[in-house]
This record gives sequence, structure tokens and C-alpha cells, in this order.
Amino acid sequence: MVRPVVPEAEKEIGVKHPVLTHGYLVLVDYMGNDAAIVQAARVSYGQGTKSVRDDRGLIRYLMRHRHTTPFEMVEFKFLVRLPVFVARQWVRHRTCSLNEVSARYSIVPDEFEIPPAEEVRRQSTRNRQGRGESLPPESVERFRSDLDRVTKDAYASYTRAIESGVARETARLLLPVAYYTQWYWKANLWNIFHFLSLRLDPHAQEEIRLYAAEMAKVVRLVTPIAYEAFEEFTLSGLTLSRREQTAIRALLAGKTPEAACGESGLPLTREDGKPMTTGEGVEFLEKLAHLRTLGGEDP
Ligand SMILES: Cc1cc2nc3c(=O)[nH]c(=O)nc-3n(C[C@H](O)[C@H](O)[C@H](O)COP(=O)(O)OP(=O)(O)OC[C@H]3O[C@@H](n4cnc5c(N)ncnc54)[C@H](O)[C@@H]3O)c2cc1C
Repeated sequence: MVRPVVPEAEKEIGVKHPVLTHGYLVLVDYMGNDAAIVQAARVSYGQGTKSVRDDRGLIRYLMRHRHTTPFEMVEFKFLVRLPVFVARQWVRHRTCSLNEVSARYSIVPDEFEIPPAEEVRRQSTRNRQGRGESLPPESVERFRSDLDRVTKDAYASYTRAIESGVARETARLLLPVAYYTQWYWKANLWNIFHFLSLRLDPHAQEEIRLYAAEMAKVVRLVTPIAYEAFEEFTLSGLTLSRREQTAIRALLAGKTPEAACGESGLPLTREDGKPMTTGEGVEFLEKLAHLRTLGGEDP
């Protein structure tokens, strides 16, 4: 039996992908490739299909039908340096293994994430968790210089505390969430696809999306056929609820999108008659707009 190796991925091991001001993502190791997925699936399905074309068809079939375990045969290990506010989000993904540098054991370096001016924007009115319109330059610069001052003060206090004998595990309480941590993170391909589907999504915070985008490049290199299927069926796939399917039927019968929403119980207006900005109806119209854009009908 020959251990599968991807020549492009071998060159990728140890290469730093810079992310944010002081962060990075590095592929430390990987196990398996597209062939490992096929090999595992064939244990289930027998020797029926063997050509490269069949391999692609088989992987796409597995993805479409959520036959997930063959994808678990591929593993990735990354070294990631990231600010703590991104780590807080990342660590919510439980189906992985990670080992983080200990700020009880080591001194935290003097590195903090100060976002570039274009990333300091107004609170979004549509997404309560996100950023929206731009801010006046003076507000942006005040925020950035405040953050710069706060992090410098915090680090000076941290250093003073350590020098005066306060334990490192206690001194770190002085540091804001913009400080950097580092970890080894290992997951199998299926869980990585799940991570990417959530963290490449426009609803995820911009900073974690940048890490996800670098991870996606590495994953694509090691498992190009599986990644293509993931893009096709998961990243670019669209789900339709029962009400949305009813609305589609109304559209096909010639109704306007608003009438179709009305008929199928997808709300577009609030009780006071004002238009809704979020909710199932609005999201359905967004899906339609997306489909129209894909079809080249809308700019
Ligand atoms: C845009 C966005 C906004 C978010 N906002 C918030 C927020 O405001 N507050 C907040 O607390 N979190 C928030 N989260 C985190 C989110 O709720 C999930 O915890 C995170 O995305 C990890 O997803 P997961 O549990 O599917 O992944 P994993 O932990 O990797 O789990 C993978 C899958 O394994 C299964 N699984 C794992 N553990 C269990 C379990 N204990 N029980 C049942 N099934 C399990 C599930 O099928 C799960 O989908 C947000 C995430 C995103 C992407």
C-alpha cells in the first residue's frame, strides 16, 4: 500500500499565510487526499467504479448525499496565530483537536490587532452582529488611536505586574481581547468543510473569514476534487424551506415575488405596516435576487 502524497501540498508544508497584522496560518501536516476519500467509499460500494472520471463522480455523489465518513479519512494540521477575539469564535468548533500556547506558562508578546481604517465601520442596521456603512474619518482615527493607546497601556501594566512578581496566569487579566494567541489545530476534512461553510459565510466576522479563506486555499490544494464538490453543493448550494417552495410555485404560476410571499406565509411587513428588514420573507427575496444575479438578469 502506498501512502498518498500531493506534491503541491508537500511544498506547502511550513509556508506562512499571513492574516491580519500579526497573524498567520501554516499547514503543518496532512494525511490523505482525494484518493483516500474514494478508497474509503469503495469499501462501502465495492470495486464498481475505478477511473479518474468516476472518482470525481463518486466524490460528488458522496457530497450530494451527505455520505460524510469517507471525507473524514483526510486530516489537516495547522499552526495558527490569531487575536483572542477571533480565537473565541474559532474555539466554538468542537469537532477538532487543538493545543494552545499557555499564557500561564509563557509571556504574551507585545502584539495586538489594530484593524486597518477601512475595517472600522458603523454598526450594521441589518445584521445586529456585523459592520455596515463607513464612518467619518475622525471617528475611525479616534477609535484606532484609542485602541493603540489602550493596548500600549495594557502591555505596560502587564509587564509591570510580571516584573513585580504577579503570576503570569493573573497578570494576563490586564490584556484586552486584541492580543494574539497561537495554537495547533487539527481536524478532518468533513469538519473543516463545516468550519469553512460557517466561517467563509458573509455573516461571519471579517477577521475569521480571512483565516478561513487561507485555510480554504490549502484544503483546495490537497483535495481539489472534494473542494470543488464542496463549493458546488455546499458553498454555492441553496436550500428552500417548505414555505419558500410554495412561494416558488406561486412565482412559476406568474405571481409577483411580493404576492408569492403573501400567499406562502413569508412575512414582508411588520404589524404596524412598515417593511421588514430581516426575517424569512426578506431572506427569500434575497435568495431570488441572488439567483437573478447568477442568471445574469440583474447587474
Ligand atoms: C455567523 C455566526 C454567528 C454566531 N453567533 C453566536 C452567538 O451570538 N453566540 C454564540 O454563543 N455562538 C455563536 N456562534 C457560534 C455557533 O453557535 C456555533 O457554536 C459555531 O458556529 C460552531 O458550530 P458547530 O457547533 O456546528 O460546530 P462544531 O462544534 O464543530 O460541531 C460540528 C457538528 O457536530 C455536531 N455537534 C457537536 N457538538 C454537539 C453537541 N454537543 N450536541 C449536538 N451536536 C453536536 C453538530 O451537528 C455540529 O454542527 C455563531 C457562529 C456563526 C458562524
